This record gives sequence, C-alpha cells and structure tokens, in this order.
Amino acid sequence: MAKNIQSIRGMHDILPSQSASWQYLETTIRRLFNSYGYRELRTPIIEPSELFSRGIGEVTDIVEKEMYTFTDRNGDSLSMRPEGTASCVRAGIQHGLLHNQQQRIWYTGAMFRHERPQKGRYRQFYQAGVETYGVATPDIDAEVIALGARLWKQLGLKKIKLQLNTLGSDEARQQYREVLIDYFSAHYDQLDEDSQHRLHKNPLRILDTKNPHLEDIVAAAPNLMEYLDQESKQHFEGLCTRLESLEIDYEINPRLVRGIDYYNRTVFEWVTKELGAQGTICAGGRYDGLVKQLGGRATPACGFGIGLERLLLLMESQKIQTPALKPHIYLVLAGKEAQIAGVKLAETLRDTHANLSLQCNLAAGSLKAQIKRADKSGAEYAIILGGREIEENTVTIKALRYHAEQLTLSQHELNNFIQKNILT
Ligand code: ATP
Ligand code: MG
Repeated sequence: MAKNIQSIRGMHDILPSQSASWQYLETTIRRLFNSYGYRELRTPIIEPSELFSRGIGEVTDIVEKEMYTFTDRNGDSLSMRPEGTASCVRAGIQHGLLHNQQQRIWYTGAMFRHERPQKGRYRQFYQAGVETYGVATPDIDAEVIALGARLWKQLGLKKIKLQLNTLGSDEARQQYREVLIDYFSAHYDQLDEDSQHRLHKNPLRILDTKNPHLEDIVAAAPNLMEYLDQESKQHFEGLCTRLESLEIDYEINPRLVRGIDYYNRTVFEWVTKELGAQGTICAGGRYDGLVKQLGGRATPACGFGIGLERLLLLMESQKIQTPALKPHIYLVLAGKEAQIAGVKLAETLRDTHANLSLQCNLAAGSLKAQIKRADKSGAEYAIILGGREIEENTVTIKALRYHAEQLTLSQHELNNFIQKNILT
C-alpha cells in the first residue's frame, strides 16, 4: 500500500474541531484593531529574499538559519515571509502610504521559520500584528501597548506581564556595542559558538541568547541604560509616564533586545510563565530606521506581532471558553419524499430568517441515527420532516437541550417559533 503523505514537520493542520476558537480569536482581534482606526494590509506570502536580509538583518537567527529561501524558475531568490513588518514597510513605500502622513495598519497570516518544533514553536505559525507610521512621540508606543493590554482583557487572559526596554538611538547603540565587545571578549572562552560568531558582528544579540549557561555572564554585562542618549531617555520616560497614567503595569528589563535588528528606542514583550520557554506571546517596538533602510524617506514607526498559537495555548491553559460553532436547527428528514421537500424547506427558512443557521441531514439514516447527529451538531432544536408532516403541511420540532413535548407546527407557526424562541 502506498505510504500516506504527512504534513511537513512543524506545520500543522487546523482541524474543524479547532476552528471555532481560531475564528473567535481572529474576529476579536480584527474588531479591536479596526476599532482603534487600524486598517488591514494583506501582502504576499513570498517576497524577494533581499527584503528580509536587508530588513531583519544579515546576522540574525531568522536570516542566517530560519528562512525558507529558494530560487524560482527565473533564477530569483525568494523567501517565505518569516514575519510581517518588512513586507508592510515594502508595501508602504511601494504605494506611497508612509511619507508625510500617519498610518495605522494591521495584518494577520502565516509566517514561516525553520526552527526546532516544540510546544508554541512551529515552522508555520500565525501572527497578527499592527504597524504604525509617522508618529515620533511616545504616544503611539503607548497606544500599541494599550491595544495589547485591551486584547488580553477582552479575551479574559490573566497574568500576562509587560516587559519594557529602550535600545536608544543608533549612535548610543554603536557606543554600547564597543563596550559590549570589550566585555564579552574578556569572557571569550566561556561563550558558546553562536555568541563567539556574533561577538564582532552583532554583540547585542548575545544578550538575547537562550543558552542558560550564559545567564551569569549576560546578567553581569554592562547596562545599555547607562549609554543612552538624552532624547531616547526622554522618549522612554515619556512612555513610562503614559503607561502609568493608563495604569498599565510594566517591568523594565535591560536585557531585552529582541531578535531582529531593525528595532531602536522602545522594545517590549508581553510574557507569561505558563508556556515554558515559549512564554512571549507578543513582541514589538519602535523601528524608526527601517523605512529609510529599505529605500523610503525616514519615517518613524512602531508596531508589534502576536503569536496566535501561543495565545490559544494560553487561553486553553487558563480554561477560557470560546463560543462553539453550532447550528440553531438541525433538519431531520425521514423518508425519500422528505429529502427533496427538506432541502426546499431549508432554503425557504434561510430566505425568511437572515441570521438563521440551519444544518440539513443529507444521506438519510434512521430517525434515531439522525437525532443522534442532530445532538452531536450542537443544535438547539431538531426539525423533523417525514411523510405525515409533508401530507399535513406541518413540521415537528424537538428541543434538544431541554425537556419539552415535541410540537407540530404549521409553516407560519414555525416562522413565529423561530423568531420568538431561536433568533432572539
Ligand atoms: P522567540 O524568542 O520565542 O523565538 P521571536 O523573538 O523570534 O520569538 P518575533 O519575531 O518577535 O519572535 O515574533 C513575534 C511573536 O511571534 C513571538 O512573540 C511569538 O509569540 C510568535 N512566534 C515567533 N516565532 C514563532 C514560532 N516559530 N512558532 C510560533 N510562534 C512564534
Ligand atoms: Mg525566534
């Protein structure tokens, strides 16, 4: 027998039984983003590889190790997007959405990274994110953070902590870089291979290492806060003041540098202790240099990305119920005649009641089997249509979730019943 083909490791099917919580989450997010005046941007899943190497940074985990890159039939190097920000900037420049204006954009979709799959870490995963352009003041940093806080609240999630840091200006970071190179050079033999490789190319990234053996060395490293430029300091203080006024708790984490090169000034992560090593459910910050770096005119920018799988895992761990997808009515059709009349009745009911959800039993089955299916569908009511009902021009309605006598109703009475008992 031929071997069954399986999905690629780290890439998962989202099954019909899981889709209700996905849809609930996506609808909640979409509604919230729109309500703050953000508008959706959809970009292609595949982009020129150069967009990511220039945008995310050559010496990053994503570009060095994680991208799905291939040469297409024209010989062009293309990559599956590993994140959403670079594409938003590319599209923003291409369509003139950024210069001399304020933009609030959101996106959602699949991202691809060749990482070691584990709980909360996959090779295809979904993100939802916002990107804002044209606001240089910390008002927008505070707005995107408040947006995150409101989302956790709307979803009923608890114990998500905000960690905050500032990376300062490019110049301040440059100066700090030299200090870090000196510091880590003095501990060269204790560094792992990755960190040794990064020492001169991107020493800040050593602070972001996930290697527990380096914890002590990293903890004792010089602090970026001491090298901050005056303007970045003020920007950061401005953000902290706004968060305090909004009563959003935060913790300053001077080791927070983020895995992507484009960030400057504000960086933040929303973290939980409930998902082990994959505890960051949302990460973002300011990236004032990226638009220019990708060929546009200098434009201040700020945004975040949420990992949807991690958010769903957290909702599961906190036992948050999401509304199930279930029909109002399951239509049981007894006998051949009813199968034809039933489909007609179903369509008539859908014409009459715009918001009615009604699932029709196809492929016959005994009355008992059909009632069982009706029950399994989660429907509130079963409508039974058999030979007797067709003859009398009636239907029988059976409550599936509470005890009540079955009722025999005329078409007109059925419409009233639906209006009064089902659609209210
Ligand atoms: P991590 O440190 O966990 O690798 P990251 O810094 O690489 O995360 P970002 O690039 O900032 O993550 O992406 C934003 C969010 O997307 C993360 O906070 C996380 O919730 C989610 N995410 C990132 N990579 C994955 C993945 N491989 N699988 C599932 N979710 C992911
Ligand atoms: Mg990562």
